[in-house]
Parts: sequence; C-alpha cells; structure tokens
Amino acid sequence: PEGKLTAQGEEQRKEGDGIEEEQDVSFDNLGLDEQLSRALRKKGITVATPIQREAIPLILEGKDVVARAKTGSGKTLAYLLPMFHALLKLCFEKHATKASPNVFILVPTRELCQQVYQEASSLLEFCTEKLKLVQLTASMPPREMRISLAGPPNIVVTTPACISTCISKGILKASSIKDSLSMLILDEADLLLSYGYEKDLKALTPHIPRSCQCILMSATSSTDVETLKKLLLHNPVTLTLSEVG
Ligand code: ADP
Ligand code: MG
Repeated sequence: PEGKLTAQGEEQRKEGDGIEEEQDVSFDNLGLDEQLSRALRKKGITVATPIQREAIPLILEGKDVVARAKTGSGKTLAYLLPMFHALLKLCFEKHATKASPNVFILVPTRELCQQVYQEASSLLEFCTEKLKLVQLTASMPPREMRISLAGPPNIVVTTPACISTCISKGILKASSIKDSLSMLILDEADLLLSYGYEKDLKALTPHIPRSCQCILMSATSSTDVETLKKLLLHNPVTLTLSEVG
C-alpha cells in the first residue's frame, strides 16, 4: 500500500534496482549495528517500511539524503537508525572522538520535538545507555538549557530558533558545533521555513562543518525544501515515495 519509490539526484543507481518488488525487508539485512536490530526486535518492529529500506543504506554510506514520503511512512526511524549506528561507531570504536554534540535533529514544533525525542529515547532504552540524548524547547529557561547541554549530549532534538538562542546566549559554543557535529537532520523540512526559521537556519549554516552529513525529511515537496537543500546539502540523493503504485 505504500506506493512506489524512485531515487534521483547525483546518484541514479537506485532506479530500477528491484525497489518496486513487493518484498518484506527485515531490518537484519540493512547493515545496522546488532544492538539496534536487537532493540527493534524488542519493540516488535521487524519489517522495514519502503522509505526505511531505501534511506537507511544511503545514510549509512554517508550520503546527504532528501527523502519525501507521506505522513506515517516511518521517516523517523529511517533517520534515527542509521544516525544511532554512526554514533555507536563514532563514540565506541578505538581512538573514538569524544567531542559532542554530534547530531542536531531540527524540527518545526515543540510537539514534534517531544515526539522525536520519545521515539529516539525508547530505542536507546533497549540499546545503550551510553549515548546522551536531550531535547531543547523554547519554553525552557536558559538555566535549564545550560544544564541539558552540559555534559555535553551526543544528540540534541530541538527547533532552529532554540539552537540560535543557545548560540547567541553562549549556552552552546559555535566552535564546539564546528568541531563535533557529524550529522544534521531536518525533520518536516517542508514546514521549517513557513514557521519562520529561515533566519535561524541561515545563522547556523556557517557553523556546520563541511564534513557534516545532512538529512532532509519531508512529507511534501516544495520550494522551501529546495531552498534548504541548496543551503545545507552536498550532492544529495533524493528519494521520493509516491502515493500511487
Ligand atoms: P512519518 O514521520 O513518516 O510521518 P513516523 O516515523 O512518525 O512516520 O512513523 C509512523 C508510525 O509508524 C510510528 O508510530 C512508528 O513507530 C511506526 N513505525 C515506523 N516504522 C515502522 C516499522 N518498520 N514497523 C512498524 N511500525 C513502524
Ligand atoms: Mg515524521
């Protein structure tokens, strides 16, 4: 019922690559860390949705990805799983870097922030206690933000405005973003600009290291998605899950 997937962009190799087959794909075959596969099994999640089976390998490869799929198609796990995989590698391998924060997940609303935070923490609960995840919302007093960012966390789920506030108040050092950020995820990217976050995203952009992998998730395509893609992504692969098929 999920429809048909097409991939476009710099990389065309996914096209016609058997992606239209009505085949259940187990998470076990996607190359994810065993801790994550185990956590999914404990949550009773066994079969990857189409957007997950396409996006996960590309994100694991380190590609910048733009993924468009309708609401309810499982976009959150499509980025959370490869993000956790990469972080487990980054933080626990020999000679691992200890610098943080490593990942920003930027969303348009406080509700979505809470939702993504919950999905991420419920996965971590079954997997590892070693990765530190926080959410920051505009309603938090600066003192509380400072406490959340002390540590510092590996993953921050927040809004673009909140990141701007933290940087301008000196709660978050621009230099630590430059030194440690390895992944930037924009969820519901089609809504970010209409919520007025363009200024905040443009202010953040110079602090994002060139090596940072950027992922853009949306339910619809729009000129706003194109604007963000141009602003933040490098040679992205675009995945589109259409309604028909
Ligand atoms: P989207 O962001 O595309 O709107 P979500 O990531 O919020 O979709 O997922 C919608 C629902 O489907 C959530 O409740 C999520 O836990 C569930 N879900 C996601 N992936 C799977 C899966 N592979 N198997 C079963 N349920 C899933
Ligand atoms: Mg979503």
